[in-house]
Amino acid sequence: MAIESALGESVVLTRTDKVLGWARKYSLFLYPFVTACCGMEYMATAASHYDIDRFGAGLPRFSPRQADVLFVVGTISHKQAPILKRVWEQMCEPKWVVAFGGCTCSGGPYDNYATVQGIDTIVPVDVYIPGCPPRPETVLDGIIKLQEKIQNQKQEL
Ligand code: SF4
Repeated sequence: MAIESALGESVVLTRTDKVLGWARKYSLFLYPFVTACCGMEYMATAASHYDIDRFGAGLPRFSPRQADVLFVVGTISHKQAPILKRVWEQMCEPKWVVAFGGCTCSGGPYDNYATVQGIDTIVPVDVYIPGCPPRPETVLDGIIKLQEKIQNQKQEL
């Protein structure tokens, strides 16, 4: 208490973990793995009306080595599954995965032999965004949930 009153409001005390979390959650570099109709809604969310730049997520990277959020958007077939896994493996830590739309969450309307019944059978998923397709507000909610997760997790240096 004595130190706090001596310092007054001249310094801000925080933890490295908190600062890193804050910086990371507002500098998301998405790799959009877009395969199907949900892609239209991804583009609508990224455009100026909804503007995911407000969340620090407006700059997609098309190299997994430059991305930290794998945004899986659309139906994933079993033939595509090894490619998705390879892209995820090529991303550096720390990295996160978002399942965008019903198909990525659970196979969506495609309960058949060709479709992966949820991408969490291939890669670990941090946030699920339901909907066929999800509305932009739902996508923004998913991004906010990812930011909360990033802020609160233990930050590896
Ligand atoms: S969830 Fe619906 S809109 Fe999205 S890729 Fe699947 S079928 Fe298309």
